[in-house]
Amino acid sequence: MDYVMDVNGTHIWYYFICKREVWLIAHQIAADQEDDNLEIGRFISETSYQRQKKELLIGNIKVDRIRREGDTLVVGEVKKSSTYEKSAYYQLLFYLDTLRKMGIEAKGELLFPKEKKVTKVEWTEEGKRVLEEAVADIRRIARLPVPPEPKKIGFCRSCAYREYCFAEE
Ligand code: SF4
Repeated sequence: MDYVMDVNGTHIWYYFICKREVWLIAHQIAADQEDDNLEIGRFISETSYQRQKKELLIGNIKVDRIRREGDTLVVGEVKKSSTYEKSAYYQLLFYLDTLRKMGIEAKGELLFPKEKKVTKVEWTEEGKRVLEEAVADIRRIARLPVPPEPKKIGFCRSCAYREYCFAEE
């Protein structure tokens, strides 16, 4: 039987930002762990909403927060800014979809502590269709023999792979 890549929330997050990064992560090419932006991301994730934070591992997903709202489970994901809200949206939708496959119907909320902003996320058929297309495309990208060419985007400035992608510049 052919190998089928196990797509996770990190792949989904990067898919909506940079296809090259999806390939680099899928091939476990190590990013610069000393990169300041990675540090800031970790710090904000670790310190914001600390009093409410309950990190939980379910299958291959790790959610930042989980709480009850009446009879409904609400899954929260902490991000350092809403600049890449589309990525964050589909990552959280992926988590909601994974929980749904386990028989757990949950709602989601994206938390942007620096902006004091919260965005609600709900599972829909249309969102599920977009996710399925993304998962299939992530698997296609991962099978490529070489990574897609780098394209300069705003995210490159805070990407730990920037030296690797644009070393000549
Ligand atoms: S530096 Fe830019 S092109 Fe390279 S992986 Fe990061 S976001 Fe993608």
